Amino acid sequence: NDKRLYSPSYVKEIINKYGFGFSKSLGQNFLIDGNIVRKICEEGNIDSTDNVLEIGPGIGTLTEELGIRAKKVVAVELDKNLLPILDDTLSQYENIEIVHGDILKIDLSKLFKEKFDGGSIKIVANLPYYITTPIITRLLEEEIDIDSILVMVQKEVAERMSARSGSKDYGSLSVFVNYYTEAEIVLNVPKTVFMPKPNVDSAVIRLKVRGERIQLKDKETFFKTVKASFSQRRKTILNSLSAGLGMEKEELKDILLKCDVDPRQRAENLNIEDFAKISSLIPPSFI
Ligand code: SAM
Repeated sequence: NDKRLYSPSYVKEIINKYGFGFSKSLGQNFLIDGNIVRKICEEGNIDSTDNVLEIGPGIGTLTEELGIRAKKVVAVELDKNLLPILDDTLSQYENIEIVHGDILKIDLSKLFKEKFDGGSIKIVANLPYYITTPIITRLLEEEIDIDSILVMVQKEVAERMSARSGSKDYGSLSVFVNYYTEAEIVLNVPKTVFMPKPNVDSAVIRLKVRGERIQLKDKETFFKTVKASFSQRRKTILNSLSAGLGMEKEELKDILLKCDVDPRQRAENLNIEDFAKISSLIPPSFI
């Protein structure tokens, strides 16, 4: 069978055969471009030693290419209307398994233990955009044992995730992602490679999980400090931290000066080391 799932006419044929209706609220925009599908797998460095978790296989377009390259693919799909389709489109691949579930709720360490027999785990997905940030937050915060995350997301979100200090896109999401991973946009993707065509541009971002992270005195204090710092972007770091944490300016000013941070700077000009230093001096009573 040399029919591949990314051919637009084949996608239409399947949709018609099963009377499938795209769900906007589930973020269903399916890939119909073989080059993009291959490029995603190449940028993810997927080879025959890899276990892959895919989020939202749709009708199996990316899943199929992953299955051809990887050792094993487990794909979690929420829409039960897609299950009979996936049964059909991926029937010839013995190393692909579909799991019906919600990626925000499913027990991932249990899933990995059940489905993968050791070796590295990579996450690859064309994400449902309405829950991009919750998914990324979950995957990173739970500190599950994964190698890398390679996902297609809305372009602006990719830019915020990978932004460096000093850029207009830099914010608490950038610091959060940078704490856990090295982030890099690897591909910009036009609207035309999807069916139906979305309203936004897309990008593929690679998040390589860090072996070693920056040392923090307390993770919760760190993230609260970062959030408070960016709560009012136009204000100085002194003012936004003071408002965000409810601390006296005098006390905060001392902390900032101890960290070699000019209190008149803005949060967008501070790097992760600055936030780590500042948060290590915030008294626990303010968290
Ligand atoms: N991978 C396919 C492709 O590239 O053609 C489909 C990508 S589509 C952008 C997103 C997929 O995620 C849809 O199949 C949708 O049903 C599924 N999905 C949406 N919410 C989900 C959730 N909470 N858990 C798992 N899958 C979800």
